[in-house]
Amino acid sequence: MKATTPNQSFSFSGIVCSTLGHDYVISRKITNHINEYKCTNCGKEVTDNFAGHLENLTSKTKQINTSLAMFFEKKMRRKYAKVV
Ligand SMILES: [Zn+2]
Repeated sequence: MKATTPNQSFSFSGIVCSTLGHDYVISRKITNHINEYKCTNCGKEVTDNFAGHLENLTSKTKQINTSLAMFFEKKMRRKYAKVV
């Protein structure tokens, strides 16, 4: 746990991110082409969308990704089942 208050760390991170850009790491893999990312500085979450652009991760896009991940997993399983 950090000793700084959320407000202080948020504004500091905001400056770092607006100056240097967000430092995204993959937080969840949805498909081969779609991932969710989280900024290690400010905690901002984004996701790849169908168009291949980054989009803000909201509860709605999170839900879409969850169904997409389930669909993708099923599809992959079926694909492997056919091969074997
Ligand atoms: Zn950031």
